[in-house]
Amino acid sequence: MSSTKIVVIGAGSTGSFITHDLASRGFDVTVIERGNIIGGTSGKFHGMLHSGARYAMTDTAAAKESILDNKVISDIAPFCIENTEGLFVALNDEDLSFQEKFENGCKSAGIPIENIEPNKILDEEPFLNKKIKAAYLVPDKTINSFRFITSLLLTAKRESAKVYLNTEVVDFIKEGNTVKGVRVKSQNGEIKDIAADLVINSSGAWASNLINNKLGITSIEMILSAGTMAVINRRFTKRIINRLREPSDGDIVVPFFNDSIIGTTAFIVDDPDKFDIDRDDISFLQKAGSEMIPALATYPVQRYYAGVRPLVATENEDSRKASRDFRIFDHSKTDNINGIISIVGGKLSTSRIMAKNIVDFVNDKFNMNTKSNTENIKLYWPSITAETVDEMAKSLSIDKGLLIEIINESSGRTYSDMYSGVKDFLYSRMLFN
Ligand SMILES: Cc1cc2nc3c(=O)[nH]c(=O)nc-3n(C[C@H](O)[C@H](O)[C@H](O)COP(=O)(O)OP(=O)(O)OC[C@H]3O[C@@H](n4cnc5c(N)ncnc54)[C@H](O)[C@@H]3O)c2cc1C
Repeated sequence: MSSTKIVVIGAGSTGSFITHDLASRGFDVTVIERGNIIGGTSGKFHGMLHSGARYAMTDTAAAKESILDNKVISDIAPFCIENTEGLFVALNDEDLSFQEKFENGCKSAGIPIENIEPNKILDEEPFLNKKIKAAYLVPDKTINSFRFITSLLLTAKRESAKVYLNTEVVDFIKEGNTVKGVRVKSQNGEIKDIAADLVINSSGAWASNLINNKLGITSIEMILSAGTMAVINRRFTKRIINRLREPSDGDIVVPFFNDSIIGTTAFIVDDPDKFDIDRDDISFLQKAGSEMIPALATYPVQRYYAGVRPLVATENEDSRKASRDFRIFDHSKTDNINGIISIVGGKLSTSRIMAKNIVDFVNDKFNMNTKSNTENIKLYWPSITAETVDEMAKSLSIDKGLLIEIINESSGRTYSDMYSGVKDFLYSRMLFN
């Protein structure tokens, strides 16, 4: 292991992939997460592993990264992906006017699409609005982020990363203009200092406020763009349904396990921990979703939630038009503070590319000679065997017989192989020891 000590703040999709990339290259890495797994935006999103088609008309960089990572993440973590596919549908003449722009955008981003006859697609997706005028098939998928992040952290832990959940970075250790580590507070109130040669701030929507408050760093300007999603407790389509137009409110329905998630809205918040969800947005989403799938109007919205996009501010005031691409900030250059860098923006779907880029940056900073190999490393997700039950019982310090009973009891209650709540929860507990 390299003697370079790195602390990563935040174990969302970005920080967890960075931790895995660093650990797999031999860095001594510790990740600190103030909440539990998927406590941030990575647990409050649509659930898509994007093909990039959604951004093909407005954001070529994000579209290209998405199609690349869509293939890689499907290969290294198949246990958390459902290959739903996606459809872009035109419902009126205005939607039809986007056809050429959509086709050209997908072509230049390298996203394979197929134009399908409306009648043919209605045979396969009978709940779609019968009036559709055009439809395109794209390689969108869904991803179980709890499994994805748990498996990233379990893999990193096996590569000797240290993982602290429910532990908050409350301050930084500083000598002159250089950050030398972080001060953390665990759930039971215990405070301790962790020394680091470099701190990576990947705390998502919290990234700017955290280092502004504690270090006076002002170079990261973010747009905190919240989005609400409404969930109906029934699945109507095999595929993710998008409206054929530039990304806008209420233009997507994601079938997630047995549910339909209707998204989304975009409104600016000041504090990602304190904002209200407008009830009118829920009715709006249900109405907009039912334009694509009329049956959505006939079921109650069972629950709703909102997440905050950690977008990099641009001169563009409209957060819908802000890029979904990411940026790395070297604070020694932007703020004259050494020992800390930040990464902001991107998407869960592009977390591998984001991690590779920032760890390449770290590699150059420390004159190392490492290369990312995460595109070839299958993430650790154990199936239940005598060996893994042994490992789990030891790691969780519980009786092996009891563990087998819990697993057997829960296996009859799974929704599908993709979603085995109790088993996933047990795996995640292995991160605490
Ligand atoms: C409405 C909506 C829909 C979306 N849909 C999709 C989609 O379908 N597909 C897709 O790919 N992307 C989607 N995104 C974007 C995607 O969810 C985010 O880009 C991604 O989850 C961000 O990951 P992250 O790790 O940067 O942030 P987070 O997941 O928020 O992780 C940051 C972590 O830092 C922790 N933290 C903060 N402060 C501290 C501290 N002081 N100490 C320790 N830890 C700290 C937080 O608890 C949090 O867990 C969507 C976003 C929104 C808002």
